[in-house]
Amino acid sequence: MSTKAAPPVEKNEYIDVVFEDLTHEGAGVAKVNGYPIFVPQALPDERAKIKVIKVKKNFAFGKLMELYETSPYRQEAPCLVYKQCGGCQLQHLSYEGQLKAKEKQVRDVMQRIGNLPDVPVHPVLGMENPWLYRNKAQVPIGEHEGGLIGGFYRQGTHEIVDMKSCLIQAEENDVLIQRVKEICSKHGVSAYREEQHKGTLRHVMARYGLVTGEIMLVFITRTAELPQKAAIIEEITAAFPQVKSIVQNVNEKRTNVIFGDKTKVLWGSEYIYDYIGGIKFAISARSFYQVNPVQTKVLYDKTLEYAQLSGNEAVIDAYCGIGTISLFLAQKAKHVYGVEIVPEAIEDAKRNAALNGIENAEFAVGEAEKVIPAWYKQGIQADVIVVDPPRKGCDEALLETIAAMKPKRVVYVSCGPATLARDLRYLEDHGFRTVEVQPVDMFPQTMHVECVAWLERKEA
Ligand code: SAH
Repeated sequence: MSTKAAPPVEKNEYIDVVFEDLTHEGAGVAKVNGYPIFVPQALPDERAKIKVIKVKKNFAFGKLMELYETSPYRQEAPCLVYKQCGGCQLQHLSYEGQLKAKEKQVRDVMQRIGNLPDVPVHPVLGMENPWLYRNKAQVPIGEHEGGLIGGFYRQGTHEIVDMKSCLIQAEENDVLIQRVKEICSKHGVSAYREEQHKGTLRHVMARYGLVTGEIMLVFITRTAELPQKAAIIEEITAAFPQVKSIVQNVNEKRTNVIFGDKTKVLWGSEYIYDYIGGIKFAISARSFYQVNPVQTKVLYDKTLEYAQLSGNEAVIDAYCGIGTISLFLAQKAKHVYGVEIVPEAIEDAKRNAALNGIENAEFAVGEAEKVIPAWYKQGIQADVIVVDPPRKGCDEALLETIAAMKPKRVVYVSCGPATLARDLRYLEDHGFRTVEVQPVDMFPQTMHVECVAWLERKEA
């Protein structure tokens, strides 16, 4: 006889529930005898009638039918295409409610995954204006009634919906891309057609330097040629003096991946520039660069504060990307070693160090979990180690080396609270104490949450 209880709900059943949580996709979570049901658009503390849509062994999906009690934080989503787009998940929750939900998410994983119920988790550092913050737009291009359209793929489809502006996007990018669609339509540029693998323009990308005001425009095309190139460039540069760089990337493949391998400058510079906290960055079409520069400064300031540098320290910055955190730290440390797996990012990091006259930072290409153990074997010591891994967190080989290296302090920057909690547990069990965790809202209106955690070595 099976000891496993059958799910307590049936498909197509209508039930009344109270929501207690949000998933990391932004759906409400209600429980029936501990069995979770995920319901899009529902918010914590709301009471509602739902219809059970899909039943699995350990969870079910439901649809919101009637709200009996609404959350005090519920609001009308300001974006008109919120439900079709799917880029944002939390516009139906007020910003205050979003910050509370993100704080709770971090607290919950600290307890549940990290077994760290007492670690102080501060209220999320949010934005004064949580809109228009993105400095990079990547817009798929299609055709409608002989003209070009561009916007987003209707959720769950490959159908392109036209959009003139996006509420989380820098207006400068939106205005430019709207004009680019018009200008390219006028000059007869065709849109890429996925099914036939025909047509020219696949995507348009714009990047905006918040501090410098400089803009880069990138055409991603299927063909090596962009028809009427000269005329198009002339119109764009005449209308937008802020555009300093126009680039073409060629992607000849049948693929969902946006960029191809070939990138060439059509007009102006290969780079635009921007500043974060007084440090200048050169950004190329393919460079990784944080998309919310205002909150990036908040995140890095917190990282620097937790690192508590006096000027004598050797610091390792693992998963350093284009060296943004490394260069921030280098201003206050004796020496910084950055390591990153993507070779082009390390080239950018070296260029950015030179651009700022920073000589006490050196960069290596490779996996953090291989390079740092090798450094340790060579006798390199670190007083402070900063890590900023991707969502999957740190490799255990790296955590082992950190434990062996015994730095005074570790600052852990994380875009995945669950893996952060897991890795904090490891470090707690290997000689470190988590002093506090500061969440930072890098992506308002979405479920993403970034954290900085400060750890001290116990015997220190
Ligand atoms: N610290 C940077 C980038 C953080 S994103 C910033 O603030 O901008 C995480 C980075 O880790 C990415 O650049 C990714 O390419 C890199 N990465 C992923 N796996 C890695 C590994 N095993 N070793 C080193 N770097 C890695």
